[in-house]
Amino acid sequence: MRSYSLIAPAKINLYLEILGIRPDGYHELAMVLQSIDLADHIHLSASSTDTIRVRCEHPQVPTDKTNLAYKAAELMAVQFPDAFAQYGGVEITIDKRIPVAAGLAGGSTDGAAVLVGLDLLWQLGLTQSQLQELAAQLGSDVPFCVAGGTAIATGRGDQLSPLPSVENLYVVLGKYRSLTVSTAWAYQTYRQHAGSNVADPTFEPRLGVHSGPMVKAIIHKNAREIGQRLHNDLEQVVLPKYPQVLQLRQAFQDTGVLGAMMSGSGPTVFALCESYDQAQQSQQQVRAAFPDPDLNLVVAQFSSTGIRVAS
Ligand code: ATP
Repeated sequence: MRSYSLIAPAKINLYLEILGIRPDGYHELAMVLQSIDLADHIHLSASSTDTIRVRCEHPQVPTDKTNLAYKAAELMAVQFPDAFAQYGGVEITIDKRIPVAAGLAGGSTDGAAVLVGLDLLWQLGLTQSQLQELAAQLGSDVPFCVAGGTAIATGRGDQLSPLPSVENLYVVLGKYRSLTVSTAWAYQTYRQHAGSNVADPTFEPRLGVHSGPMVKAIIHKNAREIGQRLHNDLEQVVLPKYPQVLQLRQAFQDTGVLGAMMSGSGPTVFALCESYDQAQQSQQQVRAAFPDPDLNLVVAQFSSTGIRVAS
C-alpha cells in the first residue's frame, strides 16, 4: 500500500507530579496519562521525490522542519536509510482537530503517528518497544502517544507502565482558543518557584502527594476516587497567571462532576464525568456561564488505544 491514514488521539493527565530535576536537566516526573477520543487525522503517502513534506491548514501549526511530524519522518529516514532510499519521500497531511499548545500532546501524537505510519509504509515490522525507543528521541510524551490507553509514566515521562483501561469515563475539555501556554515556560517557572518556595507564601510545596492512590483508583475502576485524586503540580504556576483558566476550572467543578483539573501544562481544563449525559450537562452549564465564543468546549471519551490505522 502506498498510503496510510492514521488516527492520532490526544491525551490528558490525570496526575502530574514533579519529583525533582535530573542530572540531564529534565524534570523527574510521575504522571498518569490517559488517551481520549479527540484525535488528529494524519495521512501519509509515498511521494515520487526524496523529500519530506508536511501540509496542515491550521494557522498555529508550522509545516517546516520544526513540526514534530516532520522530525519523526526525518528520524525514520536517518535510522532506516535503505527503506528511505527504496520507498522515497513522504507527504504528511495533518487534519488538526486537537487544540494547539493546549496540554493535550497534539504535536507529540502527530509525531507518534508518523513513526507508526512509516513503519507500515516502509514495511519495517518494528516492535512496539522499538517504536517507543524511537519515540523517546522525539519527546517525552511521544512514547505514550504510540501505545495510548492508560499508563503511569515516570523518568522524564518516557518510562511507561500500562494500567488497566478505564473506557467508560468522559471529559469536557475547555480551552480559550486565543490562549496558549508554552510547556517549557510552565516547567521553568515551576522550577524557579520550587527553588524559592520557602520565601513565596503563595506557593504550595508538594507535601504528601503521591501517585499510589490514583493508580489504585484506576485499578479498581473507581470513578469517584479517580475524580478526587486528580492532581497536577503545574496548576500552581499556570492558574495564578491565567485567572480565566482558574475560573473555568471552578465553573466545571461547580457543575457537580467527578473532578476538574488542568491537563499537562494547560491551558486546557477538563471536567471528569461518569456518563455522556453528565458531560453534556456540564458543558451546557459552563457554556451558559461563559458565553464567550473564544471558549471552546468539547466532550470526549476515554480511549484505550494509541495510534491506529483509520478503518
Ligand atoms: P504537550 O502536552 O506535549 O506539552 P501541547 O499539547 O501543549 O504539548 P502542542 O499542541 O504539541 O502542545 O504544540 C506546542 C507547539 O509545538 C506549537 O505551538 C507548535 O508551534 C509546535 N508544533 C510542532 N509540531 C506540531 C504539530 N504537529 N501539531 C501542533 N503543534 C506543533
